Amino acid sequence: MAPKIAVIGSGPAGITAALELKDRGFEDVTIFGSFEEAQLKTKQVDGIVFDVAACLLHLGYRNTVIPLTRRFGLEVNYIKAPADIVTSRLEKIKKRPGEIIDVYLTILYYLFFFFGWLFLHKTPFRKRYSSSMETFLVQRRLEGLSKSFAMGPGGIAQGYGFLDEVTAYHAFRWFRPRLFLTPLVSRFKFGVATIKQGYEVLFKNILSELNHVESKIKLVRPSFEKVEVSTQEGEILLFDEVIIACPLDQINFPHAYLIDENTIEESYLFSYLFTSPTIPPFEDRAYLSAYIECKMKNKALVIRTGGQTKTGDYLYWAVGYKSSEISKQDLKSQIERQLSKECNLIIKKLHYFDVFRYNLRFSSQAVRDGVVDKFHNLQGYKHIWYSGGLLSHWDISSIYEHNRWLVNKMRYRLGNKNLFSYLKYKFKTIVSWLRLI
Ligand SMILES: Cc1cc2nc3c(=O)[nH]c(=O)nc-3n(C[C@H](O)[C@H](O)[C@H](O)COP(=O)(O)OP(=O)(O)OC[C@H]3O[C@@H](n4cnc5c(N)ncnc54)[C@H](O)[C@@H]3O)c2cc1C
Repeated sequence: MAPKIAVIGSGPAGITAALELKDRGFEDVTIFGSFEEAQLKTKQVDGIVFDVAACLLHLGYRNTVIPLTRRFGLEVNYIKAPADIVTSRLEKIKKRPGEIIDVYLTILYYLFFFFGWLFLHKTPFRKRYSSSMETFLVQRRLEGLSKSFAMGPGGIAQGYGFLDEVTAYHAFRWFRPRLFLTPLVSRFKFGVATIKQGYEVLFKNILSELNHVESKIKLVRPSFEKVEVSTQEGEILLFDEVIIACPLDQINFPHAYLIDENTIEESYLFSYLFTSPTIPPFEDRAYLSAYIECKMKNKALVIRTGGQTKTGDYLYWAVGYKSSEISKQDLKSQIERQLSKECNLIIKKLHYFDVFRYNLRFSSQAVRDGVVDKFHNLQGYKHIWYSGGLLSHWDISSIYEHNRWLVNKMRYRLGNKNLFSYLKYKFKTIVSWLRLI
């Protein structure tokens, strides 16, 4: 009989987990949670579609999100990165091959990330990564690299948080060799892309093909060979396997005691979408490096433009971190002052402003205490599995990759566990990783 599976959470983590289960032949899958609460928010402003909580696709998405857009009939807008911004580092080298020093520096930079990643995942030295990324660099006399980390892969440009707040563990987690191998085989080599109709439309389309129940889940607990799932409405349901794909502090589950205020850290990010008659002083986006370097909160750190609207105005999106003490109203006034006085952008109309609880991550304490490893070892224990940004990396591509791995592991567990099926599982895992390259 087909196993009855519940996926808890209907954000990108839950939706890609349920889709992967369906694709791998599991027929009885129910996904719980409210899509409206997921971080994805697509806004339409005078003919422009803009995602205020998951706007960009980059190289790594080639094997995850981009095929999904094709499958669900959506289009991708490829935005060629202008030569003078950090993301086009490789492009710059291509244009100025004479500057060989740049090539060496880039190779060294990626090698540093690669070995960082290798040590982080494959050796017992993980606990050394519990310090902040800033301390990690200073201790290794690499503080000169901090600017490049803040602005480049793994840093603020990826929306992590400042380097003194983010553990080295988390920063290195961003690196996945695939991210850098993909350009070798991909048409989509440089720059970034967006989903033309928006992320929200994509995930709503996928969700409409799944068995979705709006209820929130209060409790998940093992019950003999099954897993008991209690909804907030008081209904108790039994499943064979359960994937928890909602933030782990939002639900009661057998190992919830591992999660407390010392285990997780988070950032509060604001998203401010506005139109302006002012012509953008940059092509696609500008990193306000002076603010980034001074670790300014309550200030826009990156400003992007979505282009010119039908009415002739420009659509802008400003994003930055919120400090805990400032009220939303004061924050709004401060952003507006910054945009108009310091950045010379006249705000014509505000289209969207919100603050997100963003980038839930394990704290240094949790890395030191081995909580992260505990969760990895707990995968599938008593038929309960864990997904979402906390367990992978926060971006949607990595969440999807994690779910592919998880479902593969689940299939092996549910199958016949002899040597042959173990080898088959290992082979399939390797093939699925190769497919991602
Ligand atoms: C400003 C901003 C910019 C971003 N930019 C990008 C980007 O460019 N690229 C990118 O890949 N990512 C980006 N992200 C990150 C991306 O949006 C998140 O990584 C992603 O939404 C996380 O998915 P999730 O499913 O884990 O969590 P969420 O989207 O937070 O969804 C959680 C889900 O769990 C449900 N839930 C919670 N509690 C329960 C419960 N008890 N029972 C049942 N369901 C429950 C909620 O209803 C919700 O549906 C950005 C995020 C923000 C805020």
